[in-house]
Formats: sequence, structure tokens, C-alpha cells
Amino acid sequence: CGIVGYIGKQSAQEVLVNGLSKLEYRGYDSAGIAVHDGQVIKIRKSVGRLAALESQLENLDATVGIGHTRWATHGRPSHDNAHPHTDESERFIVVHNGIIENYLQLREELQASGHVFTSETDTEVVAHLLEELFDGDLFETVKKVVQKIHGAFALAIMAKDEPGKLIAVREKSPLIVGLGDGENFIASDIPAILEYTRRVYILEDGEMAVLTENDVACYTLDGELVQKEEFNVTWDA
Ligand code: GLU
Repeated sequence: CGIVGYIGKQSAQEVLVNGLSKLEYRGYDSAGIAVHDGQVIKIRKSVGRLAALESQLENLDATVGIGHTRWATHGRPSHDNAHPHTDESERFIVVHNGIIENYLQLREELQASGHVFTSETDTEVVAHLLEELFDGDLFETVKKVVQKIHGAFALAIMAKDEPGKLIAVREKSPLIVGLGDGENFIASDIPAILEYTRRVYILEDGEMAVLTENDVACYTLDGELVQKEEFNVTWDA
């Protein structure tokens, strides 16, 4: 339902929770964030409103992270089904809006090769696929994963081994990138990041972006570089 991603120097949990609160009007059944402090990834989830998540957050002391508010399509609203989702080693973290149509088949294939699922969502296959197909390079691996999944998806992805990077993918579900000074953002809608920047790339279907704190590069899902035009938001949320 709502996606926010952050990489920079501020407290990631603050930016994520604040951003998600701007998307609250859409309604959701659970919320969660994952942050990377350079060493470890910490995941916090809660059923219900954002306030419920906030009330259980200690200071996570990290400047990179992704967050999500969920509107359940596959799997009931529950703690285990709340995003972010991860593989069993917690090396790959993903939040997702939309529906992965072929998730059942992928899930069966992944289970047959030993993957253990902890949720009923369509989303979780993405985390396990990343683990299954990882070849040492997150971007190359994401390219392989998006060829395997069908349906509608906006994804924000983070990996334990590449703490200085976030990847955003858009296919039939809205996603934008916010451009800051020494920081960059991902969001499913502009109001989530308007407090931090008015400069955005509006991703099109079939596009992805690789974010570091100082750079954003956009590509097609095949990995061709795309020169995006910067869009300046002139209205207020
Ligand atoms: N299909 C995913 C789920 O049910 C994502 C739902 C959403 O867009 O929030 O968890």
C-alpha cells in the first residue's frame, strides 16, 4: 500500500515513519520497517496503525532503510504477513506494493529447493528469489529476479552485503525517487517525501533505480541506462 525508502545521513527510522504517516489516508492493516546500520539489519513490524509500530521502536541508530504499510491481498493481516519480508538468512529485505501473479508456482519451486517461508504473502517469494539467484552483485541479481515475477509490483530492496545501496523497481504500481543533497528517497507517492525534497524522478512501468546517498541511476528492467528528467514538485501536500 505505502512504500518509503531512505539512504543518507538522517535517522532512517524517523524518515520512514514520518513518510509512511503521510500516506496514512490510504488505509492499511499493518506497518513495518527495516534499517541497516552498516553491520546488521533490524526489522520491526506491527499489526494495526503506525502509532503501534512507533510505540515499540527504540532508537535503531541507522541511516538506511525501507518501510511499508500493508493492504493485504494475499495472506491475512498479521505480524508474520506484514512487510518487510526477508529470506531465512535475512540477507535480502523487500517491501512490495501490488500482486505477484505467479507467486504460488515460484513458492513451490523455492520450497522444493529448500527455502522455508514464514508468511502467506505473494511478496515473500521475492526475498527468497534474491537469495536463490544472488551472484555477488545485488543489481545483477534484481535484474534476474524481475524477469521471473509477473504481475504488478513496486519494490524497494535492501541487502545485508551492500549497506550503501537501495534498489527501487516499478512495474504497474506507482513508485518515485526523491533526490536530496547527500541523501535520496524512494516513495510510492510524492507526499511521503515532500518535507525533504521537491526534486523527483517519476519511474515509469518497466524501470528501476539504484540509489546510494550521493547518486541515483535509472535503468530499464533489462539494465539499459535511462536518462530521467527531473520533475520539480510545485504544490504542497
Ligand atoms: N500483495 C502484497 C501483500 O498482500 C502487498 C499488498 C500491498 O500492496 O500492500 O502483502
